[in-house]
Amino acid sequence: MPPSSPKPQDRGEAHIQDRVRDRGDACPGALRLHRADDGALARLRVPTGVLTPRQVTVLADAADRLGDGHLSLTSRGNIELRGLGEGCGAGLAELLRAAGLLPASERHERVRNMVVSPLAGADVLAWARRLDELLCGADWTTGLSGRFLFAVDDGRGDAAALAADVTLLATPDGGALLRVADRTYRVAAADAPRAALAAAEAFLAAARDAGTGAWRVRELPPGQDVDVTEHLRRAALTAEPVPDAALPPGGPTPPGVLDDRTVSVLARLGRVTTDRFRALLPADEVRVTPWRGFVLPGFPDRAAAEARLAELDAAGFLTRADSPWVGVTACTGRPGCAKSLSDVRADARPLAGSPGLPVHWSGCARRCGHPQGAWVDAVATAGGDYEVTTVTRDA
Ligand code: SF4
Repeated sequence: MPPSSPKPQDRGEAHIQDRVRDRGDACPGALRLHRADDGALARLRVPTGVLTPRQVTVLADAADRLGDGHLSLTSRGNIELRGLGEGCGAGLAELLRAAGLLPASERHERVRNMVVSPLAGADVLAWARRLDELLCGADWTTGLSGRFLFAVDDGRGDAAALAADVTLLATPDGGALLRVADRTYRVAAADAPRAALAAAEAFLAAARDAGTGAWRVRELPPGQDVDVTEHLRRAALTAEPVPDAALPPGGPTPPGVLDDRTVSVLARLGRVTTDRFRALLPADEVRVTPWRGFVLPGFPDRAAAEARLAELDAAGFLTRADSPWVGVTACTGRPGCAKSLSDVRADARPLAGSPGLPVHWSGCARRCGHPQGAWVDAVATAGGDYEVTTVTRDA
């Protein structure tokens, strides 16, 4: 079905800013399972995006033993196990803990929300690791919602484009930018993780002042200031405001061989069987991307990377940037989600006439997992069809 009658939509954000939250968020976690129609669901945060080979194996084994034999990737680079049986939460937690996939304090498990540039080098990955340590080491951070998102960007603008609440961006001169609520500050690279944490604290203070229970910065009412400067000062950090800072125009990591030494693949509709997931090994490390893919760095040369890409193509991954399935995503839909009007994943497909825009298929108007920015939006209708429009602004 082509988007035959694309109509521009401007969803605006006033409805978000008018919202009053009277409860905490219900986001699933690895320890707080969500009861779905196809069994329990566990959502694992991978704060740096990096999995060790052992962690890959443990997750695949857990999905086989306890779940439905698949792993799902989310638009935040989280990994979901679905179809979990009754009473398997403790067993799953034990496996994840032994594999180093849980924080020392389980109260922090759902606040480790971070997207990181998948091709980041050691310095920027170190920021992400340090920020995770700081997040998990402070008691007050458990007041952040399970939806509050950090982005750690190596300067190419890919993670920064994901509308995080707090963004760190590496600059070509070796420094760092901190961005919160459309304001940007220059901070020393060594201070970047602490500055991001201070910005999150400033948000919580603003949310308390607003009294609306906001879970995210963009939910704060108009005029509610996030006093980042004051919280940076209290943390003894120096920051210089950068008016009119422009973010680099980064986009999703494409599939293929990148930089001659890195392999990038996508999971079709963000879901893999455990056999396909295991096919990512051997690898020194596996990086999970927010575009429902995986990056394998560290090949000795282009020939070795090309050979590995061919193996992963044979294993069923999307490996070519010109595949029509690149940019096609779908929510869970039936049978996993009771709200869904359709078996979305069975219906989802590339749409002709949507060049350059991602396409997202949803079983209802909540549009779970939709892309940021503009996208072609296919939403199931009660009549069994899909309404296809073009969204021109993030909802
Ligand atoms: S968009 Fe609707 S149908 Fe799809 S997963 Fe979300 S709530 Fe369920």
